[in-house]
Amino acid sequence: MRTLRTIAELRTALRGPRAAGVRIGLVPTMGAFHDGHLSLMRRAREECGLVVVSLFVNPAQFNEGGDLESYPRDEQRDASMAAEAGVDLLFAPDAEEVYPPGFATTVSVSGITEVLEGAHRGRAHFDGVATVVTKLLNIAAPEIAYFGQKDAQQALVIGRLVRDLNIDVEIEICPTVREHDGLAMSSRNVRLGAGERQQALALTRSLQLAARRAGAGATETEQLITEALSELEHAGVQTEYFQIVNSQTLEPITRLNGPALAVVAARVGNTRLIDNQQLTTHTDRLTTASNAGASADVSAAGSQ
Ligand code: AMP
Repeated sequence: MRTLRTIAELRTALRGPRAAGVRIGLVPTMGAFHDGHLSLMRRAREECGLVVVSLFVNPAQFNEGGDLESYPRDEQRDASMAAEAGVDLLFAPDAEEVYPPGFATTVSVSGITEVLEGAHRGRAHFDGVATVVTKLLNIAAPEIAYFGQKDAQQALVIGRLVRDLNIDVEIEICPTVREHDGLAMSSRNVRLGAGERQQALALTRSLQLAARRAGAGATETEQLITEALSELEHAGVQTEYFQIVNSQTLEPITRLNGPALAVVAARVGNTRLIDNQQLTTHTDRLTTASNAGASADVSAAGSQ
């Protein structure tokens, strides 16, 4: 694996493979790798001939100076983990390379950025994400770019900007990777003290509770939200939001009648964590099962 620092070096390295028709996959990251990042890299390795991982702690998307300063950084460790996962190129530019003097352009997605993370972290957060991801897609021009469902709203924002700006790339969203006890892996987890690590599990429990209740037939989201909030409060974490939303539009849902997403953000001590889980209602499961039955019948009929 080679580590490249400049846009020119990366473009040069990609020119030959691209001309030879090699499929290029990009995994944008901010480093401090864990199994969640590695799952994206491995998926890219399976599907692409050349895998690029970008490692850039993007100052533009941090709304708190302290969070940016204390963001975990260990490039050597990251490089050896990426190499182990079969990554070909690690693109690790410095801030001046990405935002040279005079940089004056912002990519701003409206609507879905204005709720949840956007409402709590401020407009600049998703502007920072959208701008840097657009730049990375322009720089590497991959066939496929990989993102995690862990950051569900970010994944939707990226899907929207790619569609709106006609960027010729396929966006693949990979499932959230969790610790053995269910906590969603996050680079910020290393900041949790032992007691906080236990408290953080309340986020997982709150989502699981909502999923269980939805699966058992509950439809009024207000009731599910109240129960989830009380689980979080009981654990002593500072909840910023717990919402049940439409998984495409992120609009709040009052009555479950199809797939929905439960989303949570909370502070555990000084560390802000987010997580989400798809809710499947009893009726969804019945519909899925009967559709599966119907398609099995069709294919059986077709093969006769
Ligand atoms: P980050 O370095 O936190 O910006 O994350 C880089 C990419 O990894 C993003 O697309 C994240 O959504 C994804 N990611 C982070 N944590 C996880 C996880 N636990 N499971 C799957 N993907 C993740």
